[in-house]
Amino acid sequence: MARWHSERQTLWEVTGEMVKQGLVAGSSGNASLRLPGDGDGGYVLITPSGRPYRYLAPEDMVVIDMDGGPVEGDLLPSSETAMHLELYKARQDVEAIIHTHSLYASVAAVSGLEIPPIVVEMVIRVGGSVRVAEYAFPSTEELAQNAGHALGDRNAVLLRNHGMVGVGRTSWEALDLCQMVERVAQIFVYSSLLGRALTLPSEIIEMEQELYRMQGLRSGTPRET
Ligand SMILES: [Zn+2]
Repeated sequence: MARWHSERQTLWEVTGEMVKQGLVAGSSGNASLRLPGDGDGGYVLITPSGRPYRYLAPEDMVVIDMDGGPVEGDLLPSSETAMHLELYKARQDVEAIIHTHSLYASVAAVSGLEIPPIVVEMVIRVGGSVRVAEYAFPSTEELAQNAGHALGDRNAVLLRNHGMVGVGRTSWEALDLCQMVERVAQIFVYSSLLGRALTLPSEIIEMEQELYRMQGLRSGTPRET
C-alpha cells in the first residue's frame, strides 16, 4: 500500500481538473505538492513523466526527495522535476506547483509579453504582473533557473514559447490560480486586439500588493516585493 494516500488522491483529482478545464492535454504539463518527510528538506509528490492523464491513477504519482532522488513509485518523475524542486527550494511558502500549457497564457508567452495588472483580483493573488521567464529548452536546469528568477516573489510566471506555472499553499489554490491567470491572459489578448489593455491605477496596484504581502505574512513566510 503506497504511503501518502490522501496526498496522492488530491494530486490525482487536481490533474483531472486540469484536463477538464482545458489547461493541459495528453501528457503535457505537470503538477506536484510538498510532502512532510523524515529528512531536512522533506519530499515532493509529482506526476510521472510522459503518461497521459487519462491513464493516471493516484498510486502512479512519484515521491522524490529534494535532490530528485527516488523515494517511492515505479514510474519516472515529471520531465520538469528540476523546475519544481528549484521553486520549492526558493520559496518556502509554496506547497504546490502546477505547470500548464493553457492557450491564452501560451499566446502571451509566445509573444514574450508579460501580463500586466489589468484586473482587480489578479494583483492580490499573483502579486503583480505575470512576468515572462527567459527561454530555455524544456526539462533543463536552465529552464528551472529562469523560471525561479522570473517568478521571484509572485505566484505565477510565463515560460517563454512554452506555457505557464502557478504556485500556491495547496494544490487547489494553485489550480484556481492557473485558471485565473488563463482567464486574465484571455482578457489581455482580446483587449490588446481592441487596441489597448489599460493597467489598474498605480495606487490600486500598490494597495493590492500590500494585501498580497500580508497574505504571505499570515502563512508565516513574508514575501519581499
Ligand atoms: Zn511544459
